[in-house]
Amino acid sequence: MRDFSSDHRWLSLNTATVRKQGDLVQIIEACARHGIRAIDPWRDQVATVGLDRAVRAVRDAGLELSGYCRGGMFTSDAARRGEVRDDNRRCVDEASALGAPCVVLVAGGLPQFSRPGSAASKDIAAARAQVEEAIAEMLEYATQARMPLAIEPLHPAYAADRACVNTTKHALDICDRLDPARTGALGVALDVYHIWWDPEVMGEIARAGRDRRLFAFHVCDWLVPTRDILNDRGMMGDGVIDIKRYRATVEATGYAGYSEIEIFSHEWWDRPMDEVIRTCIERHRTVV
Ligand code: ZN
Repeated sequence: MRDFSSDHRWLSLNTATVRKQGDLVQIIEACARHGIRAIDPWRDQVATVGLDRAVRAVRDAGLELSGYCRGGMFTSDAARRGEVRDDNRRCVDEASALGAPCVVLVAGGLPQFSRPGSAASKDIAAARAQVEEAIAEMLEYATQARMPLAIEPLHPAYAADRACVNTTKHALDICDRLDPARTGALGVALDVYHIWWDPEVMGEIARAGRDRRLFAFHVCDWLVPTRDILNDRGMMGDGVIDIKRYRATVEATGYAGYSEIEIFSHEWWDRPMDEVIRTCIERHRTVV
C-alpha cells in the first residue's frame, strides 16, 4: 500500500465536499493554495460557472480530474426516456471537455424519485432492468467519445430514491453483461461509505481489479448515529470505517489512482473552506 503519511499527492477533492463555501472556480483556487492536484467536480457546479470557464480554471490550475459527477438517474417513465438519454450524453460531452478519466454513474432508484414527474412505481426489479438497458445505450455513445463509465453502487438505504444498484457484485455483474470483453469502457467507482458493510466486498474488490474495472476510489466515514443518510457523512477518522483496510485491498489489485474525498455534511459545509481542506489533508495522511 502506498504511504500517504508524508504528502497528499494522491488526494483528490470531490468538490461537493465544499459546495456551500464557494463556487467551482473558488474551490479550484483553494485547491491550488493547498497543493491539491485533482478534483471531481459536479455537473451543477460546472453549470453555475459555465463549462468553458470551468475548463479554463481546471487547465490554468494544472489540475487533473479523478472523475466527473455524475451521470445516471436512468429510471423514468416512458415519457422521459429521451430526456434521460440526452442528459447523459451531455454529461459525457462535458466530461470530455474537462478531461475527466470517467463519468461516475448513480443508477437512479424508483422512477418517481430519479426523474420527478415520472409515474410512481414500486417495481424495483423493473427499475434495475431499466438501468441496465440505459447503461447499455449510454455505453455506445460513451465508447465513441472514448469516455469510460464507472457505476457507483450505493448503500441499500438509497435503493428507492437514488440507486437500485446496491452492491459491488451487482455493479460488476452489469459490467460483465454489457462489456464481456473487459475493454476498459465500463467499470466501477467504489466508495467506502457505500461498500463497507458488505460481507462479500473484499472478494468483489479483487474481482474488479482482476477485470480492470476499478476506476475510482472514494473515501469519507460512517458516523454513529448517522442523523441524515444523505448529508451526514463523516470526515475520515470520525466514524467506524476501517478505511486503510479498504484502501489496502483496493491497492492490492494494482489500483494506483487518486483517493477521492467525498463528504456531504451540513456540519462540514458550515465551516470555512480552508479549514475543511486542511482537515481533509491531515486525515488523508493519518487515517486514509
Ligand atoms: Zn462516491
